[in-house]
Amino acid sequence: RAKDSGRNAIQLFRSTMQDAVSARLRLENDLRLALARGEFELHFQPQVDARDGQVVGAEALLRWQHPQHGPQSPAQFIQVLEESGLIIEVGGWVLTEACHLCARLLADELIDAERFSLCVNISPRQFRQHDFVERVAGCLRTSQLPHAMLKLEITEGIVIQNIDDTVGKMLRLKKHGVSFAMDDFGTGYSSLTYLKRLPVDMLKIDQSFVRDATSDPNDAGIIRAIVAMARSLGLGLIAEGVEQQEQLDFLQAQDCHLYQGYLFSKPVPEDAFRALLGQHRS
Ligand code: C2E
Ligand code: MG
Ligand code: MG
Ligand code: MG
Repeated sequence: RAKDSGRNAIQLFRSTMQDAVSARLRLENDLRLALARGEFELHFQPQVDARDGQVVGAEALLRWQHPQHGPQSPAQFIQVLEESGLIIEVGGWVLTEACHLCARLLADELIDAERFSLCVNISPRQFRQHDFVERVAGCLRTSQLPHAMLKLEITEGIVIQNIDDTVGKMLRLKKHGVSFAMDDFGTGYSSLTYLKRLPVDMLKIDQSFVRDATSDPNDAGIIRAIVAMARSLGLGLIAEGVEQQEQLDFLQAQDCHLYQGYLFSKPVPEDAFRALLGQHRS
């Protein structure tokens, strides 16, 4: 009997494993098709200066509408893109689309070149492409986006291989006028060591600290420390995941005035983003 149930458990385990493996293969295959079928879309989340309410930038966020299963969360499929290498193609698409859209917003006078950054997430594998710098330069050229408007969001995962190579590429991109934000700051392993060496321009306070900033003294303390660090290193600062006015009040009291979050707007499709910019202009 015990043997039987043991055998059953193993069989169950096996079939669960097989299910997981085939689900994963299916997902990978669907993602491959998604690009060809044009199922990916970009949404844009405004970034705001709380001091005057101006929209000072936007983060481009990838969306995937699965034909059968509906909208899929990037939190899940980005990892599969990364592990399968598909991120190279998809990430290239994101960069091209985002730069072209931003150039059109500029042409339509919905934004100012001097006061608007387009933020694009770059995954570690994408960044490690040997011709990544040339690809970015190519995107800027074909879209004619002023180079200084492009900001690349990287995470600490970017340096797991070779820090000299990473720094070298970043410096070459900075020569082109592109800037860098360290995303999800504070959640990685070795923030301080890498921060010392990576030529980033801005830190993004991770939303996990913002969430409980007004109720958890530890999170409040971490935010104060990040603000102090950014100030002493001369880095820009933005908070992500701001949902409540109290969170924004706390951040502003700590001298962090740029934010992104549902309090102002969720990520929205291009049309809605244009409408939002238009309203703000008038
Ligand atoms: P991220 O770069 O840290 O992006 C911020 C995430 O927080 C987005 O999730 C955004 O929708 C969400 N968010 C913004 N404001 C709030 C808020 O007030 N409350 C809450 N709870 N969430 C908020 P999203 O769009 O699901 O993306 C998840 C992650 O997927 C991103 O985190 C980024 O790491 C990755 N990702 C998204 N698009 C791309 C892309 O084009 N390329 C790459 N490599 N990664 C991407
Ligand atoms: Mg980001
Ligand atoms: Mg983030
Ligand atoms: Mg994140």
